[in-house]
Amino acid sequence: MPTHQSPPAALATTRHVHGVCPLDCPDTCSWVVTVENGRAVKLLGNREHPYTRGALCEKVNRYLEHTRSSERLLWPMRRTGKKGEGRFERISWDGALGEIAARWRTIIEREGPQAIWPYYGTGTLGMIQGLAGAGRRLWNVLGTTQHHLSICMSAGGFATGYTLGDNRIGMDPEGIAEAELVILWGANPLVTHHHIWKFVEAARRKGAHVVVIDPVRTRSADQADEHLAPRPGTDAALALGLLSVVVARGAEDREFIEAHTLGWDAFRERIQGYPPARVAEITGLPAERIVALGERLATARPTAIRIGPGMQRHAGGGMAVRTITCIPGVTGDWRYPGGGAAYDTRAFFKGNWPALWRDDLRPPGTRVLAMTRLAEALLTPRDQPVQALLVYSSNPAASAPDQGRVRQGLAREDLFTVVIDHFQTDTADFADLLLPATMQIEHADLHNSYGHAYLAWNAPAVAAPGECLSNSEIFRRLARALGVTEPSVYDSDEDLARAVLDGDELRLAGITLEALAERGWMRLGEPQPWAPLAKGFPSPSGRLEFYSERAAAAGLDPLPAYTPPYEAVTGDADLGRRFPLALIAPAGPHFLNTEFSNLPALRDKAGPQRVLLHADDAAPRGLSDGDVARVWNDRGEYLALVEISDRVPSGIVGGAKGHWPKLNPGGTSIAATVMEKDADMGRGAVFHDNRVEVERAPMSREDFLQAFATLGHGRA
Ligand code: SF4
Repeated sequence: MPTHQSPPAALATTRHVHGVCPLDCPDTCSWVVTVENGRAVKLLGNREHPYTRGALCEKVNRYLEHTRSSERLLWPMRRTGKKGEGRFERISWDGALGEIAARWRTIIEREGPQAIWPYYGTGTLGMIQGLAGAGRRLWNVLGTTQHHLSICMSAGGFATGYTLGDNRIGMDPEGIAEAELVILWGANPLVTHHHIWKFVEAARRKGAHVVVIDPVRTRSADQADEHLAPRPGTDAALALGLLSVVVARGAEDREFIEAHTLGWDAFRERIQGYPPARVAEITGLPAERIVALGERLATARPTAIRIGPGMQRHAGGGMAVRTITCIPGVTGDWRYPGGGAAYDTRAFFKGNWPALWRDDLRPPGTRVLAMTRLAEALLTPRDQPVQALLVYSSNPAASAPDQGRVRQGLAREDLFTVVIDHFQTDTADFADLLLPATMQIEHADLHNSYGHAYLAWNAPAVAAPGECLSNSEIFRRLARALGVTEPSVYDSDEDLARAVLDGDELRLAGITLEALAERGWMRLGEPQPWAPLAKGFPSPSGRLEFYSERAAAAGLDPLPAYTPPYEAVTGDADLGRRFPLALIAPAGPHFLNTEFSNLPALRDKAGPQRVLLHADDAAPRGLSDGDVARVWNDRGEYLALVEISDRVPSGIVGGAKGHWPKLNPGGTSIAATVMEKDADMGRGAVFHDNRVEVERAPMSREDFLQAFATLGHGRA
C-alpha cells in the first residue's frame, strides 16, 4: 500500500483543500479534499462552484480509491524482461535520471535532439503538470521533436479557428439555460460531462426544445425531445441542409450577416446546393425531419449548439465543425446570450502563454510529429528516426490508432523509452525505464476548462506516496541531470503559475494566484448572461469567416463543405462488402479514455468490452445476445460480448472505448481496428471512421468471462 506521511499525533488536524479534476472532460470540476492527519479521507465536488455545484461523476467519486491502489507505481524501475513483458526492478531516482541523461546525450550527439520525442496525452490537462505546459520549456531548450496533440479535438479546433478566428472559442455553455432550442450535436453529456445538463434542463423548464443529433441513441438522446440519427460522418451535409431550410424561408439574420460575417454570398450559394432531399440521401434521415428541424432553427432565438468532439473524428470532421459553427452566423445567434456553438472554451482564459511555454527558446524549424501517427513515426524509415520516447500522461499502446503497429514500434530494440505514469499500463510494459508520477491530490496545478468559463487552482492536499514525483519536478531533475544551464527550466510550480497568470486582462480582472488559492476557482469573462462573440470575432477580418482565406491557403475548400468520411459511409463496393458495419466507439460512463480501466470497482461495473449490434445485423451472422464476437478488419481485431440493441441502427456497431488491451481477453482493444490517418484539418484522428466485420469468436461466453475476471484478479 502506498504510504502517506502523517503529522505527529500532537499536530493532528483536519483540513479542507481546494482542488480540481485534472481529467479529459470539459466540466473541470472543482473539488474539496478533506485531509485528516495527513491522509485524504474525502473528496467531494465543491458546492460553491457555479458549474460543479457539489457533484462529481461516477468515475471521480472513486478517485481517492484510485490514488490508494496497491498497484500505484511508487519508485523508479528499470526493465528486466523483454519489451512488452512488463518485468522491472526497482532503481533509485539518481540511477534513473543518470541513465536517461546518458542515453539522451548519446542520441543528441549522434542523431540530433529531434530524435527525442516527448510524447504526452490527455491524462492530465493542467498547465504545470499536464498537456497545457508540462515540460515544454525543457523540450524547447533541448530542441526535441515537437508533439502535436492530435488525438482529441484537433480537427474541430482548427475548424473553429478558420471560422471564428480562435481554435478555442465559442459560446459560454452556461448560457444554454437561456436558449429556446438546444442542439446537442454528437454530444452525450449525461455520460461524458453531465454538469451541462442542468443548463439544458433550465432551458427546457422555460419551454426550450432539446434535440440530440447522434448516429447512436445515447442516454442523452433518451432524455431529449427529439433524436436524429444521421449516418456517421455526414454532419456537415446535415448542417448545410438545415441552413438551406433557414435560407429558403428568408430567416437568415441579414443585419448580423452584414455587420459581422465574411463571404455570405458564396456561402449562401453553397447552402442552396444542399436542399433537404439531397441531404436526406446523404444522411439517411427523412427529408421531413430535416425540414422540421430547419424550421425550428429558423425561428428559435436563441439557439444553442453543443458540439461534441466525437463527431469530428472522421475524414471530414474539421469541415463538420466548421459548418456547424457557421449556423449561428447565419441565424445571428452569436449576438445573444444563450446563442452560438460551444466546442471549446479555453480561450476565455487570456493567460500569458508565451511566458509559460518560452517557445522563444526553441531552435527554429524543429519538426512536429502527430501523436496519432505514432506507428508510422516509429516504423517508417526516415532521415531522422525517433530514437527516444518520453511518454507522460498517455497510454498510446492502448489508445493510439493501429494498435498492432504501435506495439510493434514500441517493441523496437533500438528505441529508448521512458514512461512516467501512475500505473503499469500497456505502454509502461514497453518502457526501458518506468517513473512514478504523483496524482492530482499530491501536486499543484492550474487549470482552465474546455467546457466553461472558470479558472481553477489545485493545491496539493497530501504528501506523495512512496517516491512519486510530479511531472514538473521530474523535468526539473532531468534538466539538472542533463546539465541544462537555461534558468527558466528550474522555475518552481508557483513560479510557473505566476508566469501564466501575468497577463494584462487577468490583472485587470483581479485574477491572481492568491485570489485563486483562496477558494480554488474564479470566473473568467463577464458575468452571466454573456455573449462572448456578440461584438466581433478574433479572426483576421474581425468577422465570422464563412469564406476563409486561411483555409484556402492550407489547401482546403475556403467555404464550409461536406467532406465524405474515408470509410464510415463508403462508395467503395469492395470495402463495403468485406466490412459492412461502421464502428462507433464513444466514451462510456465508467472510464475516462483509458483512466480507471484498471480500478476494480469501475472495471466490474463496466464489465467486459461489448459490441452493440442491431438485431438485423446479428441474425444473419448467427449471433445472439451474450455471444463472444470477434470484431475485425484488415488492421486488427478485438474480442467483445455481443449486446443486441436498437440503440444502434442496422449497419452501425457500437462499443465504449477505454479498456486496457492487457486486461481484455484477447489482449487487444478497439484501437486495434482504427486507421492511422488524418482528418481534413489539424491532423485530427479518425477513430469513428472505421468499417469492420463482426463474427462469432472461437471462445465460449464462460471462458471469456473467466478470462476477464482472471485478468482483473487481485487488482485493488
Ligand atoms: S471527469 Fe468530468 S464530470 Fe467527472 S469529476 Fe472530472 S471534470 Fe467532473
